[in-house]
Amino acid sequence: MSSALKIVVMKFGGTSVESAASIGRTAEIVEGRRAKGLLPVVVVSAMAKVTDQLLAAAAAAERGDRNGALAISSRLRNRHLDTVSALLSGAEIAANHAWLEEQFQALDDLLRGLAAVQELTPRTLDLVASYGERLSSRMIGDYYGQCGLNGVHVDARSCIVTDDQHGKATPLEEKIEQALRKSVLPLLAEGHVPVLGGFIGATERGVTTTLGRGGSDYTGALVGRGVNAQAIEIWTDVNGIMTTDPRVCPDALRVKTISFEEAAELAYFGAKVLHPATILPAVQKNIPVWVLNSKDPTNRGTEITAVAAHSRTPFKSIAIKRRLTIIDVVASRMLMTHGYLKAIFDVFDKHKCAVDMVSTSEVSVSLTVDSNDRLPAIAADLSQLADVKYEARKALICMVGENIRGQRGIAAQVFSAIRHVNVRMISQGASEINMSFMIEEDDVEEAVRALHQHFFMDPDPEIFDVTGRESLAGSTAGAAALREG
Ligand code: ADP
Ligand code: ASP
Ligand code: MG
Repeated sequence: MSSALKIVVMKFGGTSVESAASIGRTAEIVEGRRAKGLLPVVVVSAMAKVTDQLLAAAAAAERGDRNGALAISSRLRNRHLDTVSALLSGAEIAANHAWLEEQFQALDDLLRGLAAVQELTPRTLDLVASYGERLSSRMIGDYYGQCGLNGVHVDARSCIVTDDQHGKATPLEEKIEQALRKSVLPLLAEGHVPVLGGFIGATERGVTTTLGRGGSDYTGALVGRGVNAQAIEIWTDVNGIMTTDPRVCPDALRVKTISFEEAAELAYFGAKVLHPATILPAVQKNIPVWVLNSKDPTNRGTEITAVAAHSRTPFKSIAIKRRLTIIDVVASRMLMTHGYLKAIFDVFDKHKCAVDMVSTSEVSVSLTVDSNDRLPAIAADLSQLADVKYEARKALICMVGENIRGQRGIAAQVFSAIRHVNVRMISQGASEINMSFMIEEDDVEEAVRALHQHFFMDPDPEIFDVTGRESLAGSTAGAAALREG
């Protein structure tokens, strides 16, 4: 059934649904796809900043600041009520407002309870965080229903089945596929546009979970895989994957095409434009992923495919990951003894803490991790094995490109471009497509601008949008390139 349908999953991020006007723009983009005979399934994030505010409300409640928590909730309530008033008309406004009031009453009860006990479990935090996507998806589903798109809201918790690792749950892909076949495919066959919230899911027993920050991209890919989509489109607020974060380097260029492998490295090493896990479900089914700009929908964006053209330049993009900590484990006698590294990694495993980079010397092992509040406990456990020091405020720069494989002299070019910067750790991974190093967070912007200037001085027009003005006149990108049939 599914393979006969030309399905496109369209994920709109927080900035793409931040206001009634932006939501209106998404409807036009979705209509553009329908006009091409495609069947859109829409995945939406919470309105911009809403997840941050929900987490802040939960944190205030945990501190016992009941009024602070309720004040945040009240601002969120007004923002959603106002957006609904601007988007919908007639009886739909009152119906949606009544539903919103019920949701905010439940949220406020939860926040009062948290403030009373001053205790916040990961399970309850997921419940609080889930409101953002629950509210946005229902509101946008209702709007798409009214504006002629035949939209229908689908509660993502009925199809994104996960384990119970709250805060970063693992999706159960087969169960998700079964659920999507039951709930989403029949809607498509009837001509509806299903609208799901990203980021949220539920365990088999129906307990609300989340996929981790930025997880709506992941939902987009899971849905794309589950319904066998022809393309997955990640609609955001920039023209695609750029040669580096345009907020740090305004001269960043759009990368026209990039491989799954390169995009996965970039995402993992900090390019916020894509959630790291996004890529995998798409790779498994060889579904092309497009990154597109909802504020400039005629821009061609970036296509991510299994195999992408190589650039003349060694790198395609530079990712930045901030707020890292370096942990040095020093043990003069024990290092290199059998099982020692395992013992170190077991500590990180016990605390469910991912390690980004490792380097060893005769007497020490240095590791880098995201700065987090488990570090004192991790250090305490490690100090049973050796002397431990840790230092925060580090940043990782990760240079990615398939063309660095086997090229000589690249490292020399990289480090001479930033010769004034103190480099703390270096790694060139087994994937051979990234070169990463760790520096002080305060140096990161200057270093990235210097590297960008050096490596993208003479960009390859086949790979990079050197004019910045390339667009598909009069039509929208992405799906225009969908394979026929
Ligand atoms: P959304 O809300 O649509 O999910 P995000 O804020 O998660 O959007 O991601 C988009 C942002 O990612 C951009 O505004 C940009 O500042 C940042 N970014 C970081 N690295 C890159 C890069 N290499 N290419 C494009 N954007 C990047
Ligand atoms: N709203 C969630 C977050 O801000 C998920 C997402 O937008 O991708 O992390
Ligand atoms: Mg995002």
